[in-house]
Amino acid sequence: MEAVVRILVDNRVGMVRDPYLGRHGLAVVVEVPSEDLRVLFDTGPSKDVLENNLRVAGLGRGFDAVVISHEHWDHTGGLGAVEAERVVKPGGDEVDLLDGAIVATRTFEGEYEGEPMPERSLIVGDLALIGCCHFRLEELLEEYEPRMVLGGLHLMGRPRRELDRVVEALLDHGVRRVFPCHCTGIPESSYLANRVGGEPGYVPMELRVEL
Ligand SMILES: [Zn+2]
Ligand SMILES: [Zn+2]
Repeated sequence: MEAVVRILVDNRVGMVRDPYLGRHGLAVVVEVPSEDLRVLFDTGPSKDVLENNLRVAGLGRGFDAVVISHEHWDHTGGLGAVEAERVVKPGGDEVDLLDGAIVATRTFEGEYEGEPMPERSLIVGDLALIGCCHFRLEELLEEYEPRMVLGGLHLMGRPRRELDRVVEALLDHGVRRVFPCHCTGIPESSYLANRVGGEPGYVPMELRVEL
């Protein structure tokens, strides 16, 4: 069984392939063709961006589940553009979406500008999708043991020693490929990918994951 993971919305305007719209935010589509399952992880900053990029990607607006990582506008803004049988928001325990192969993680106790910011991730086989990582990354790595990480790691403009701390944490926990994007920052994403393996995420990046 295989999952196809596509970054549908991301910040990198300059790297975006027209006519995809690049905007500050994140949305990732996970499809498992053999199970006819479609899950959306985060929805980008607005309805029109998500609608446009779904149309360009040839995807409809219907999903089995939408998982929202955390309640920031650049992750929730497009929610109105999709129809979902189930919406999993931050708060509470993990939610199994496909026999343990696709799981919305438990809610981690994140923090943003001194305020609590609960946040979930989405596990797809060996891959962890991360919204903004306002929580301690090591907690997720210890509990879910992913080998690949894709998404926002909130490192834009951070000093080298902080990047090195994240690199060490990833390597120490057995992560071998990263696809940083969104709030990771462009030079920071390249640095992480060079040190750990993988490549910076861009739109519309496609990744095939064995489940
Ligand atoms: Zn964000
Ligand atoms: Zn955020």
